[in-house]
Parts: sequence; C-alpha cells; structure tokens
Amino acid sequence: MVKTQIDTQYEAVIGLEVHAQLKTASKIFCGCSTKFGAGPNSQTCPICLGMPGVLPVLNRRVLEMAVKTGLALHCKISPYSRFARKNYFYPDLPKGYQISQYELPLCEQGYLETAVNGRIKRIGIHRAHMEEDAGKNLHEGLEAASHVDLNRAGVPLLEIVSEPDIRSIDEAVAYLKTLRDILVYLDVCDGNMEEGSLRCEPNLSLRPVGQKEFGTRVELKNINSFRFVQKAMEYELRRQEKVLREGGRIAQETRLWNTEKEITVVMRSKEEAHDYRYFPEPDLVPLMIPEDLIEEVRNGLPELPDAKRERFVREYEIPIYDAEVLTISKDLAHYFEACVAIYPQPKTVSNWIMTELLRELNNSGQEIADCPIPPERFAGLLKLIEDGTISGKIAKTVFEEMYRTGRSPEEIVKEKGLVQISDAGAIEVLIEDVLAAHPNERESYRQGKTQLLGFFVGQVMKRSQGKANPGKVNELLKKKLSA
Ligand code: ADP
Ligand code: ZN
Ligand code: MG
Repeated sequence: MVKTQIDTQYEAVIGLEVHAQLKTASKIFCGCSTKFGAGPNSQTCPICLGMPGVLPVLNRRVLEMAVKTGLALHCKISPYSRFARKNYFYPDLPKGYQISQYELPLCEQGYLETAVNGRIKRIGIHRAHMEEDAGKNLHEGLEAASHVDLNRAGVPLLEIVSEPDIRSIDEAVAYLKTLRDILVYLDVCDGNMEEGSLRCEPNLSLRPVGQKEFGTRVELKNINSFRFVQKAMEYELRRQEKVLREGGRIAQETRLWNTEKEITVVMRSKEEAHDYRYFPEPDLVPLMIPEDLIEEVRNGLPELPDAKRERFVREYEIPIYDAEVLTISKDLAHYFEACVAIYPQPKTVSNWIMTELLRELNNSGQEIADCPIPPERFAGLLKLIEDGTISGKIAKTVFEEMYRTGRSPEEIVKEKGLVQISDAGAIEVLIEDVLAAHPNERESYRQGKTQLLGFFVGQVMKRSQGKANPGKVNELLKKKLSA
C-alpha cells in the first residue's frame, strides 16, 4: 500500500452527460404520442414495441430541435451523420437495441458559457446526438413480478456530453442550470428533472493539484433533482478523496445515487461494463443535412439568456445582477419588458419585480405564468406612487392585495381609503398632535438635537397610518419645529 499522503491537495475533474427529452408531440421513429401520464402501454405501436418487420422513420421535428440546440451550443452541425444500434438486452428495450448515434453524431465541438462566482467559465461540449428513450420497469407494489410500461420507449432524447472541463461542483451546477435555461428558452425541452425530462449523469475524478493527467473517473446514475446532483457529487468527491488519502485507488465504475441514504453505491465495475457492439443502423438512411436547413434554423433561433442579459443591461441600464434575475425565465423577462413598455422606468420596475413580485410568487409556489397581476396593473400601481396618490409603503400593502385578489390598484386604494394625504392642512393637524404629545423631545430639538427630526416624522407617519406624504411631512415639520 502507498504511504498515506496527508497534505496532498486534490482538484476535481468533472464531465456531465445530460439527456434532454425533446418536446415533440410524437415519438422519434413512429407516430405514437409522447404525452406524460397516460395509462401503461396505451401509447405504443408495432414500431416502438420492436415488432419484427417494421421500419422506423425519423421525425423531422426531432432533427430540427436537435439542430437548434446544437447551434445554440455553438456546435458544428455535421452535414453527414448516421444512426447506430446500441445493443443490450433488458426488458425495457423490446428490440434488444437502442437506436442512437455513435461514430457520426449530429453535433460536435461546441461550448457553453456560464457565470460561476462572478466569472465567466467556458465549458466545451464534446457532442450532442439524437437517440430514443427506453421503456420503464415498474417494481413497486407488485408481488413477485415486475411490469413494463413502454409508453416512453421511442420518446426522443438529445444526449449532450460535456468535455471534462469542469473543475468544481459549483461549476457543474452552473453548467447544468445554464444548459437547462438554454433548452427551456429554445422550447425544445421542459427541463423538469423530477419528471425525468432532463437527466444528468456526472462523471467525476480527482487528481493531485498540479498533475496534468486525469484520475480514474466514476460515473453517477439515478439522480433526479438539482439538489441531488449537487449532493451526489459532493458525496462522491468526498468518498474519492478519502480513498486516495488512505493510499487506495479509485476503481473505474458506475455508481448509483441512493436517495434515501444519500450515498453512492457500486452498480457495475469497468469489467462488467456492457460491450454495446455498436453498428450502423441499417433501417435508417444516413442523414444529409443541407446547409440551407441549418441556416433556416439558425435564423429562427430565439434570443438566448446570455444575449438577453446583455441587452437588458445595455437597453434598460439596469445592473447586471437585476438582468440576471430578470432573465431567469423567458416568461419573467417578458413580464419585465411588458411592464417597462407601459411604465418606462426600468430600475423601478426591476426593483418591484425582484422584491415584491418574486416574494409573492415564491410564497405561493407559483410561476410567473400564473401571476394574477397583469403587466398593465403592475405598471398602474407604480404610476399611483409616482403621481403621489399613494406612498411607496402603502403600495406594498396594495400590491399584496392585488396579488391575493387579482383586483386593480385603483379599486383597492379607493375602497380601503389608502389615498396619500398630501394636503398641508391635514398634515399640520397631525403634526400638532404629535408635538403636543412629545413636549420633552420638542424641547431637546430646540436645544439643538436636530437628529430628532426623524423621530417626529416617524410619529406623524404612524398617526396617519402610513398615508401621509413623507416628503410633505418632512418639509412641514422642519418649518414648524424651527418656528
Ligand atoms: P461513456 O459512454 O463511456 O460514459 P461518454 O463519452 O458518453 O463516455 O462520457 C464521458 C464523460 O466523462 C464526458 O462527459 C467526459 O467529459 C467525462 N470524463 C472523461 N474523462 C473524465 C475524467 N477522467 N474525469 C471526469 N470526467 C471525465
Ligand atoms: Zn409507436
Ligand atoms: Mg457515460
């Protein structure tokens, strides 16, 4: 055994394999529906059931979505690519092979850029290829039997494989989030890890800092949420570090994440790895992708999150932080722009979205698409503050009410009598009351303790139940106190 190397520092090397389910209406090689949640095996046909004598036909939408994603990930789109058979025997795969791509994938040599702790990191995309999903084995609640649901067999996937460019868990999580944002923005995948439409298999290894060669990698499977991706990687790197520190060696293997115990356990070693006996799929013609199809897809690409972020900073002159928050989803960005179109004060709109609106959405577990406040009303509220009808503080209460009831700000303000008091006479009455109630403070003020002004303002605001115009209160108080 090697001597224990107590003070060696290790660096992580990580590469991610991501399977994204493409949002097509029908499967990749047949016309069956891809809808989630239908009765077992109700969405199958001889093709996806793998009956003898049938022929697959490529769904054109799958190709378009794959090209779209490849372009967004700065990949080269191969003018000539081919499907391959990946052979293995398992009940969820009735044909005995999965149609995938192997030596000639559709997309290669791309990259993605993501912000990690305020720095932009570029991570290479090794390849992205189309393939079909397998069915699902069901074991739970079935005595002495397993059942197979083949609704998912033949659902289109895009497998996106990163280069081993990732050096920390933070970078891996940032990569995955950015990749998901891009897929969702492109409208090619719904990005839902819990439902399995986005699956991630991290490959991880450690090497002593300063060493050029990579260490032996371990691949992790069975991770079905963002939180678990992070936890599984943390556990695995700690495990590997311990093995190395104790002078052991890392075995090249596939490990399963155990959600209950929050550990990884061996699934199969390198020796047990399948030999997939890949060979070109004889039932599908090779894909020749004409340049004009690629151009057509390129021209139809939507604005991606990073481009949108930059434009928001440039066009609306808001801080990069605001732009990042506002472009978290396409819908939120759209909401912001719709509000600014009506109420052209971007920073004010941004502040209100980032604090009040996001808080309400968060508390109610809703998405911006479910927001009960349309942009017109949101902008309407900000106008009420600007023209002095209500104070900013009251506006927050009105906002909560708008969110809860879906009513207009004008209606709520009127009904609850929340209109701001700007009338000098009315404010003076309040001031008189406050001064009469605090003769000692008033005396101290007269003796030069002018910092008490804030105290008096606070008292007047309180007495007005927040409705007095704070600017006016300030102005009139100063006058009164120095009289
Ligand atoms: P396989 O099918 O054998 O898993 P893939 O090419 O599909 O191979 O995926 C390999 C993944 O592992 C890629 O994301 C790659 O970046 C990553 N990888 C390769 N070598 C290492 C390593 N030494 N440490 C960590 N990740 C690695
Ligand atoms: Zn089918
Ligand atoms: Mg792998």
